[in-house]
Amino acid sequence: MNRKVLITGASRGIGKAIAGAFAREGDDLFLLCRNNIEDLEAFAGVLEKDNGIKVKTFKCDVGDYDSLREVFSQIDDIDIVINNAGVAWIGLLTDMDVSDWKNIMSTNLDSLFYICKLAVPRMVQKQSGRIINISSVWGNVGASCEVAYSASKGGVNSFTRALAKELAPSNISVNAIACGVIDTDMNRQHLSEEDLEELREDIPMDRLGSTDEVAELVLKVAHAPVYMTGQVITIDGGWI
Ligand code: NAP
Repeated sequence: MNRKVLITGASRGIGKAIAGAFAREGDDLFLLCRNNIEDLEAFAGVLEKDNGIKVKTFKCDVGDYDSLREVFSQIDDIDIVINNAGVAWIGLLTDMDVSDWKNIMSTNLDSLFYICKLAVPRMVQKQSGRIINISSVWGNVGASCEVAYSASKGGVNSFTRALAKELAPSNISVNAIACGVIDTDMNRQHLSEEDLEELREDIPMDRLGSTDEVAELVLKVAHAPVYMTGQVITIDGGWI
């Protein structure tokens, strides 16, 4: 469809699946990651070859405004923003270092402010645009031992609802997708096989979600009427 789509955290997991889904639609992509730039560049090459699209890659900390300004100086047009990059931290709040708290907040929440501050003026000028934020069920209900993560995703949900109201007169929709347990590195880094098995037993669908299922939903939200805005849509296999 030749839209210009920016996706953060596209080197792995959910962001990578979302990038693949938009590429198959024929959209040009701006893909960001923090560290795994070689993997992202290789993936971008495959997407360009398979789909006949243009893909630009950037190594950038989404929690750093100056780096994002540099990225946006190389982008001339933007139709869709997918704020997906995120990090988790599991443990008692009192055991958390101040630097860990700041890293969660800057990656998961400050990044939305920075990216929207840079992208929205271009969308307002065109009087069209879509912003989709990847959130978590913990942003809806909160999780023990994930207080910072829950607070950051609760912030993502409120940011989504508030910005949707601010941008509705400009014909720009802002929605969030609150994921349950999706099978990615994020969970494998923080949870043992036994933890994952216990989680699976609690999920009515009796399995973790896949990155492709989240990507399919993101695509559907991107195609939904612009009148659907300010929504936090949950995808969790009936869990929470
Ligand atoms: P993941 O597999 O750990 O991948 C994280 C991605 O974010 C990677 O591409 C990583 O880049 C990038 N990233 C991390 N910190 C960054 C930073 N400061 N600047 C730029 N990029 C950064 O994670 P995931 O499971 O796909 O999660 C994606 C999103 O879904 C997150 O917002 C997460 O909170 C949310 N979510 C996930 C689950 C789940 O069960 N997996 C559940 C609910 C919500 P590098 O590869 O370069 O490190």
